[in-house]
Amino acid sequence: MKYIECYRDPELVHGLLKSVSFLAERLAGNVTIMEICGTHTHAMGRWGLRRLVPRNVRLISGPGCPVCVTSAADLDTALYLAGLPGVIFTTFGDMLRVPGTGGRCLQDLRAEGADVRVVASPLDAVQIARDNPGREVIFLGIGFETTAPAVAAAIITAKKKDVRNLSVFSIHKTIPQAIKALLDDPSLSIDGFLCPGHVSVITGVAAYDVIPQVRRAAVITGFEPVDIVEGILMLLKQILSGRFEVAVQYERTVKREGNLKARMLMNEVFVPCDAEWRGLGMIGGSGLRIKDVYRDYDALERFSVPPLESVEPPGCSCGEVLKGIVTPKECKLFGKFCTPANPVGPCMVSSEGTCAAFYRYGMNRE
Ligand code: SF4
Repeated sequence: MKYIECYRDPELVHGLLKSVSFLAERLAGNVTIMEICGTHTHAMGRWGLRRLVPRNVRLISGPGCPVCVTSAADLDTALYLAGLPGVIFTTFGDMLRVPGTGGRCLQDLRAEGADVRVVASPLDAVQIARDNPGREVIFLGIGFETTAPAVAAAIITAKKKDVRNLSVFSIHKTIPQAIKALLDDPSLSIDGFLCPGHVSVITGVAAYDVIPQVRRAAVITGFEPVDIVEGILMLLKQILSGRFEVAVQYERTVKREGNLKARMLMNEVFVPCDAEWRGLGMIGGSGLRIKDVYRDYDALERFSVPPLESVEPPGCSCGEVLKGIVTPKECKLFGKFCTPANPVGPCMVSSEGTCAAFYRYGMNRE
């Protein structure tokens, strides 16, 4: 705790904010900075940082919550698999209440009798499969580079231990391709990115090279207030100087080369594939499919899923929220018809969702 406290020091934060204001006065106009990661969004809300930065530094939230960016089609496929007779469907807890087409969620299926179990780790799913040899166990593989190595390790473990009744529905996604899609989108104009600290621990720094290549600023940032404000300061320095790079503010955790061992695990089991992101659409090479050598562990190989007609929740603006085009408060349903207790879209369900952050912390700027 003592170690963390120095990154929450109010005097340090205010000193950094003064420097941010000093640089902001020297900007030619407004700048837009996107925080990619939902953990950053919630930290900004928790510490009230959006209200403290100068008004010409516009902070917007991006697609960095894996639950939020899961497409309606993938959600419906997960619901279909979970409802198959005899299946034990295992998932992280934050997927339980995410509504698919028609508003049904895994929690509803469980209430109707489906065997849906929350696990803390993919290895728990392996153990459940070993404990239930007569039943099919499916694990919902969701998350970015932070989660995919653990899921890969679970699949490797299952194969080594000859656990044959486990399969994984992989809807993993990778962040750098999403950033490239944001940069390529002509409707967006983002001057700098606060890159996600946790993902960067795995990917390393070079994964974001596409950002400075198109003359945009990038800083890999930690999650405490000092980290975030220093990250914004470092972005403004790049923008003002015109010297763009992928800078690392979160040096206490992120190594430039990332975590090679974790990436080796991912590469052993997964291969990049196209993936559909809520709000961003289909992005080439942004998903992780299970390699053929592990195809016995691929739920989509093991079970036949019929064509499903998926539709987004009516009136929900999650797609626009995930690109920073609108803020949650600009969604007509926010706070009236969509709340954490009765969520309409995934951005209100997830503990990392932008709408949930705005609701919880009453963020009224941006
Ligand atoms: Fe979707 Fe609810 Fe957010 Fe509106 S407030 S965008 S309905 S999650």
